[in-house]
Amino acid sequence: MQKPMIGVVPLWDDEKQSIWMVPGYLEGIEHAGGIPVILPLTTCEQVLSPLIEMLDGFLFTGGHDVSPSLYGEEMAAVCGATCAERDTMETYLFIEGALRRGKPALGICRGIQLFNSILGGTLYQDIPSQRESMLTHKQLPPYDMPAHMVEVLHETPLSWLVGRKTLAVNSYHHQAIKTLAPSLMPMAQAEDGTIEAVCMPEHRFVWAVQWHPEFSLEQDASIRLFSAFVAQCTKHAEICQSRTVAV
Ligand code: MN
Repeated sequence: MQKPMIGVVPLWDDEKQSIWMVPGYLEGIEHAGGIPVILPLTTCEQVLSPLIEMLDGFLFTGGHDVSPSLYGEEMAAVCGATCAERDTMETYLFIEGALRRGKPALGICRGIQLFNSILGGTLYQDIPSQRESMLTHKQLPPYDMPAHMVEVLHETPLSWLVGRKTLAVNSYHHQAIKTLAPSLMPMAQAEDGTIEAVCMPEHRFVWAVQWHPEFSLEQDASIRLFSAFVAQCTKHAEICQSRTVAV
């Protein structure tokens, strides 16, 4: 069986003017049987387009706040730092790779916010100042410890995957989905109503979570999540392989 090659969006360090990576994103893919490939941080379509063709799926990592212009809002003072290059690059990757070519995509933290913004939803630019909540969504380290519970919504792909009604998840975000994009379906929510996992039912695999499975790779739900993603990427790789052979 061919291992799928999965593009991982790099993180950007403003201070060091350098790309970087959290090892857990790569380990999660590798342990699930995929080959992680860290992408260049670029908005050049002539670079991204061949990569999109070559890769079998995409992992949209955490990081900067999504620019409010993506969901048609002015940037509030409480909004965190944004990264215009990532916004442009990831919008292109998501539309060309996931939507147009049907390749699997997994979004984590910023990833769920990005998918929702591109697909027509909006975000809270800062949870503590823009909505009431009894929960702390921005926990202190260690990040492999659960911070709050989420209810896994009944009869959703996530409920079939984890086979549980609740999950204890970590939480390291100050933004969240405000209005859900029409093409997304909620799969999990926190006690304060925050949408913490979504999927796109009309797509083979566009999933995103607000928590950080890359920090809790020993947890069953994290392993299952990476495995489900990589399995879909494997299927995609095999379909491409059989097409090549047939030609
Ligand atoms: Mn949370």
